[in-house]
Amino acid sequence: MSEIPTLEDLEARVGDLSGKRVLVRTDFNVPLDDDGNITDDFRIRSALPTIEWLTARGAHVTTASHLGRPKGEPNPKFSMDPVRARLAELAPGVELMENLRFDPGETSNDPAFVDRLVEGMDAYVNDAFGASHRAHASIVGPPQTLPSAMGRLLQKEVDVLLGMRNDPKRPFVGVLGGAKISGKLGVVEALLDVVDSLVIGGAMCFTFFAAQGKSIGDSLYEPDMVETCGRLLREAEEKGKALHLPDDMTGVDAAGNFATFGANVSEGGKGFDIGPGSAAAFSDVIMDARMVFWNGPMGMFEDERFESGTRTVAQAMADTKAFTVVGGGDSAAALAQFRLDDEVDHVSTGGGASLELLENGDLPGLEALRKGT
Ligand code: ADP
Ligand code: MG
Repeated sequence: MSEIPTLEDLEARVGDLSGKRVLVRTDFNVPLDDDGNITDDFRIRSALPTIEWLTARGAHVTTASHLGRPKGEPNPKFSMDPVRARLAELAPGVELMENLRFDPGETSNDPAFVDRLVEGMDAYVNDAFGASHRAHASIVGPPQTLPSAMGRLLQKEVDVLLGMRNDPKRPFVGVLGGAKISGKLGVVEALLDVVDSLVIGGAMCFTFFAAQGKSIGDSLYEPDMVETCGRLLREAEEKGKALHLPDDMTGVDAAGNFATFGANVSEGGKGFDIGPGSAAAFSDVIMDARMVFWNGPMGMFEDERFESGTRTVAQAMADTKAFTVVGGGDSAAALAQFRLDDEVDHVSTGGGASLELLENGDLPGLEALRKGT
């Protein structure tokens, strides 16, 4: 997408950046433990190429991000302090504003809030890929008044994901799982047009099973989406796309004991992972692919009894010759847990954003940069 200004375009437009104040929208929405410690600083480190490019030119960099969902008011639980401390170690002298979502104007895209963000700034850089699918103030506002550009991380994400979408190497396989079913089901339909086959695990498969009339016990599913899943199953068939669902599972029985199931979960039981047979079958599909996009773990991998499906799929992602991309916070965390994060071609910093970019080929944040001032 050449029409989105790069950092070099920004420098050509603004001139010498030395002493210039640059607002950089970053995605510092990092995972925190109960004591407020950062458990993974991947997103902070991912912003460094852009920050360092700017500071090397003498620019004065102010970063801004959201963290968690503080609902439009200050909440010490979502303070940026831990991020600020880590940032100070990685990029001394770089400022960080307080959590953008402490102000309701961020998510409502309030022009008055945009004015406050850009006050005193000479330029704007969006490097927050993980937030660029939202038309929030800090994403779409500043390019309307400031010379703007995409940062290095945003540029890399867009190159990789649009590359997949626009120039797919076939077979192109989508692997979907996780728990955020309703948000992702909409994407399944769009993905069906892009990929050659879809592999579905995680809690997502139970809504499909319900549509097929299978027993799912007390497994997590989305009653409102059963009809949609039925339609998707028919659509996949019409389009000649394979839709792979697990035919064995592990979980707990009604008494809460570890249990194995076929494609049906027993009364009162819960499916928490794909079984070994399905994991092997999914793995074969991945090994035979030339391009794979994976979003959402195959099971409740945080519990070691239910990590093996996700581990097998992660290992296949590492072993296949296909071009492999993983998007989604929990999927990336699973890869890191298995120490396979260096074995895939690209780990995206955005889950929702990567799915939406594959789906639509564009994002509100990219559109805002393209329109510019
Ligand atoms: P991502 O962050 O990669 O986009 P999600 O947030 O959608 O993925 O889902 C991740 C969560 O889904 C994990 O916490 C995992 O425990 C949960 N999960 C996966 N499979 C199941 C299942 N069968 N039942 C309940 N939870 C599941
Ligand atoms: Mg998640």
